[in-house]
Amino acid sequence: MIALVTGASRGIGRAIAIELSRCGFDIAVNFANSEQAANETAERCRENGVNAAAFKCDVSDYDECENMIKAIEQSLGGIDVLINNAGITKDGLLMRMSHKQFDDVYNTNLKSVFNLSRLTLPGMMKKRFGRIVNISSVAGIYGNAGQVNYSSMKAGIIGFTKALAKEAGSRGITVNAVAPGFIETDMTSSLPDSFKEEALSRIVLKRFGKPDEVAKTVAFLVSEGASYITGQTIEVSGGIMI
Ligand code: NAP
Repeated sequence: MIALVTGASRGIGRAIAIELSRCGFDIAVNFANSEQAANETAERCRENGVNAAAFKCDVSDYDECENMIKAIEQSLGGIDVLINNAGITKDGLLMRMSHKQFDDVYNTNLKSVFNLSRLTLPGMMKKRFGRIVNISSVAGIYGNAGQVNYSSMKAGIIGFTKALAKEAGSRGITVNAVAPGFIETDMTSSLPDSFKEEALSRIVLKRFGKPDEVAKTVAFLVSEGASYITGQTIEVSGGIMI
């Protein structure tokens, strides 16, 4: 079976790609800019005995997504599992947020989920099997000051997940979301120490999460063990808000 992981050159996406390769999936490693890192991810997947290759594509662009899907189909085969992981932040208070800051985060974080689900669903429908996992965030559940753009898109992903789960369920396709809390990646490394300390004080497990801990949850959701789970959002946050 073939899994496409978007934004798999680094961070959580890379960990998901490697974990799914351990589970025996062939892996399409998507990236936007970091070609060398994406090739390294693919190489680490191949070390687990599966096929894997890197595919450059800006997931916010529908035409590029369409070309990528064709290229994956030609080199690996039809996609059974889609992991919509690629995402960016462009933080700022609403009072100072530009239209571009909002639109960029919309296009990369939410429109991309539409683009790739739209393009891969017909093949899954035909096979009467498919797994889609969308990476949301606790920001989409609770909201983060300074992130109205990001929080909106991550909340949008949760609505998208539930609606598509209802549309696709009768064809054996499950659609779920994972909402990570504070995970140690490039995305969080540049945050101010004061922000990190404040976040840590709210995390029940008293530590930040690792990409691998998100990846294991994604692997479960695409596994046989999760065959009766759909439309759900699972937090992987160390209990940040309980
Ligand atoms: P990251 O380390 O910054 O990596 C982002 C990945 O997304 C990279 O592989 C990047 O590719 C790719 N990407 C960005 N824009 C893209 C585009 N237009 N087209 C294709 N790929 C694109 O981020 P991360 O922390 O691993 O986050 C992964 C996902 O988890 C995101 O959706 C994020 O919102 C979510 N999340 C993260 C956290 C956290 O604490 N880290 C918490 C909650 C949710 P290039 O390397 O090629 O640029």
